[in-house]
Formats: sequence, structure tokens, C-alpha cells
Amino acid sequence: MTALLLHPYTDSVMRKDLMDILACPVCKTPLELTVEGDEGDEVIQGALRCSNCGDVYPIRDRIPNLLPKAMRG
Ligand SMILES: [Zn+2]
Repeated sequence: MTALLLHPYTDSVMRKDLMDILACPVCKTPLELTVEGDEGDEVIQGALRCSNCGDVYPIRDRIPNLLPKAMRG
């Protein structure tokens, strides 16, 4: 599980229990989860927000996009 912290650019399916280990890739602040659609423990659509940077990382089709905004192009 620590691999997620070392390599935040994961293809892992977004599960609500990942909130325990997910942190902002820029400043390592714990992220806030907004759920727009879910199925059991999996988040299908939503967003992860860093309260420190204000950056929002989208979750689309269960995959969280944790690329920093500057690297998303
Ligand atoms: Zn941050």
C-alpha cells in the first residue's frame, strides 16, 4: 500500500478505503473526497481535493488522476 505514496500516479481503481493513504502529490496533505457516483466501496465519479493547494484531482471511470495540474498539460 505504501507504493501509492511513492508512486501517486496510479492506475488503481478508486476505493473509499484508499482515502486513508492518499495524499496530495504536491504537498502531501490528506485529500478530501467528493463522491458524485459510487458503487459499493468504489468511487466511479468524483474528485479529490487538496485543502492546502486547492488543487482538485478528478476521478473518472473509477480511476483517480493524481497528476499535478502542471503535469496534466
Ligand atoms: Zn496539496
